[in-house]
Amino acid sequence: VWKDCLMVIREHVTEQSFKTWFEPIIPYKLINKRLIIQVPSQFFYEWLENNYVKILRKALDYAIGKDGQLEYTIIIDSGGQKAAQKKVETPKEDSRVIPKNPFEIKTSSDIIFDSQLNKNYRFENYVEGSCNRLARAASVAVAQKPSVTAFNPLMIYGDVGLGKTHLVQAIGNYIEDQPGNNKLVLYVSSEKFTSQFINAIRDNSLQDFMNFYMMVDVLIIDDIQFLAGKEKTQETFFHIFNHLHQSGKQIVMTSDRPPRELSGMEDRLLSRFKWGLTTDIQIPDLETRMAIIQNKLATEKAEMDMEVVEYLANCVDSNVRELEGVLNSLIVDSALLQRKIDIELAKYRIKSLVEESQKAISIDKIIDVVTSHFNIKVADIKGKTRLREVVLPRQIAMFLTKEYTELSLKAIGYHFGGRDHSTVIHAIQTINDLQNQDRELQMHIKEIKEKLKK
Ligand code: ADP
Ligand code: MG
Repeated sequence: VWKDCLMVIREHVTEQSFKTWFEPIIPYKLINKRLIIQVPSQFFYEWLENNYVKILRKALDYAIGKDGQLEYTIIIDSGGQKAAQKKVETPKEDSRVIPKNPFEIKTSSDIIFDSQLNKNYRFENYVEGSCNRLARAASVAVAQKPSVTAFNPLMIYGDVGLGKTHLVQAIGNYIEDQPGNNKLVLYVSSEKFTSQFINAIRDNSLQDFMNFYMMVDVLIIDDIQFLAGKEKTQETFFHIFNHLHQSGKQIVMTSDRPPRELSGMEDRLLSRFKWGLTTDIQIPDLETRMAIIQNKLATEKAEMDMEVVEYLANCVDSNVRELEGVLNSLIVDSALLQRKIDIELAKYRIKSLVEESQKAISIDKIIDVVTSHFNIKVADIKGKTRLREVVLPRQIAMFLTKEYTELSLKAIGYHFGGRDHSTVIHAIQTINDLQNQDRELQMHIKEIKEKLKK
């Protein structure tokens, strides 16, 4: 049993700490589910309890089970004196307390288990607006009482750059920063999860991979749309998900689209989401965007007139990340030029950013992105076919070429297999008209635009 414990421990501490704190431990007795270990001193025992209680609990869970208990025996001397036994209550779920550290030693400093959280993403700097009210409230509730609320799993979806990652990381940071916290929090993007999974298969260490994830108390998994179509990864995630959920662990997920639009995701996985709460984040309204700018200015200790704040909030209206990007460049501009961020500077910056983003998008790139988005051939889009599967993408590509490049209608026609300019006008009009009624088309265009900007 102790060997099993050591195996789990070894994965979570440095080689140095392992040598110092775990090798000297002597497994003494196992009575039913009570494991008694011998440690060299009172100090040693306190240190273990203060720094490694989470890891020890994990190790016990793994080697004995949830009801496993740990007791310490302190070896007073080697001269046959009866060892003093110190019974240590191994706390139950949710009521685990880390004893106060009498030596005022910085705790947990050498535990390797890294939650992968970015400490800057917090509730305190997350601006609330009607766009995110429910998602934020649910996140706060989960942060305060992980696994206890009905929001398990909590699933937050919304477009890129609207604050999903910020919000779910704030949950993790809040939990980690609770005094005496002993919950293992883990943040992982679905991309990383997938590549870890693939590596685990390659290295024959799938079991380790699963054990690692099953040990977590709060699993935050970002951008799960990335798992779509990855059958094996999903299957593994499904097992981990079930295990965690059944053991009363909290799961938080994000996605760039609502679950029903996650094509390529297994139904049995999607139906699990209904156990908890699914909620969205919308584009922030003008006032919220202005508040976000001001919040950011305050952290950066920068200043800006209200007029400029409003101007920026109006110009960049659909993506908080872009808004922050513009703001950051302005802050840099103003430092370099030693000049206040005024409306001229702001206008100049916005104008050059727009030009830059458009310059980078060439007709070849548009054709490339559109054809791969619709999975058709470049030769077809430039060719004669009148098949609907090709005609619509062709019209979209022409429409976008007009929007993003300086090319004349005639030039656009030329690039699309020598069509004349009236065909191009017709294409642009068709897409313009359709766009207002056809939600699916809107989605396509939106996705293509995002890909173009990458
Ligand atoms: P997503 O994960 O949805 O793509 P992010 O969480 O990465 O978006 O957010 C993009 C940027 O915008 C981050 O720097 C984040 O801090 C910021 N942001 C988004 N929403 C808010 C908000 N409501 N308040 C403050 N900052 C925000
Ligand atoms: Mg994100």
